[in-house]
Amino acid sequence: MKALNWTANYFKENGIPTPRLDAEVLLSEVLGVERIALYTHFDQPLTEEERARYRTFIKRRVSGEPVSYIRNKKEFWSRNLYVDRRVLIPRPETETVVEVVKKRLKEEGDATPRTLADIGCGSGALALAIATFVNATSFLVDSDIEALVVASMNCRTYAQDGPFFLICADLFAAFRPAPIFDLIVSNPPYVRKEEIPKLPAGIRNFEPVKALDGGENGLETLQRLISQAPTYLRPGGLLATEIAPDQVESVMSLFQTTNDYHDTRLDRDLTGHPRVVSAWRN
Ligand code: GLN
Repeated sequence: MKALNWTANYFKENGIPTPRLDAEVLLSEVLGVERIALYTHFDQPLTEEERARYRTFIKRRVSGEPVSYIRNKKEFWSRNLYVDRRVLIPRPETETVVEVVKKRLKEEGDATPRTLADIGCGSGALALAIATFVNATSFLVDSDIEALVVASMNCRTYAQDGPFFLICADLFAAFRPAPIFDLIVSNPPYVRKEEIPKLPAGIRNFEPVKALDGGENGLETLQRLISQAPTYLRPGGLLATEIAPDQVESVMSLFQTTNDYHDTRLDRDLTGHPRVVSAWRN
């Protein structure tokens, strides 16, 4: 198809890393079809309206905007999530948190958590993924009300896996200090402040800084999460959090200094980077 070839070429000239793929994904979005259908069904020229919409998408992509924001869609753990610039785009490595939770619950004799908190939920990716195999009441917490609007859209889509409660608060501030959760998961902001200007442009210019900024040492939120979580975790409850690969030692020692956890474990993501630390509440 002419428009497709032209776009792939234009993306390439503009330094887009996956030009053909992006051209296809955006065109299939315009046409409302699966990507494969571009080759099996669509030989006819685009209508004026389709052409105009595709042109807008192309401009946005060339400006560096990530494809997921342009099409308002990102797949995570086989869930089709709505995303826009109010939330971080769920990353493949964050699925490791879900895998670790699944694995550890299984090792614990198929433990069945009844209450779950996703702290810093963003789009709701973690809570919604875990809700596919855990039958719990889920609390999705974010300090950003705009992010919660996006999470609420996704919770509505997958309401059959609920109930989901959305709470606008800093970490555990909305809960009474009591052991109320069987499972706490988080992908907190953990990027060192000084690293943020060095992130790839697609991240730096489009994704919400609040969701990335972990303060001077990158550990500000992680530190508060790990020290506060024991108050809210039932004995035998699990905390699992994403981290940056270079934070392993600091995070491990945060878990160990509280004396509230046991079996603290590190797991790697699919690219082999240390990515998830998890531990049971004593
Ligand atoms: N992994 C994210 C990135 O690459 C950071 C996510 C986070 O801070 N939780 O930018």
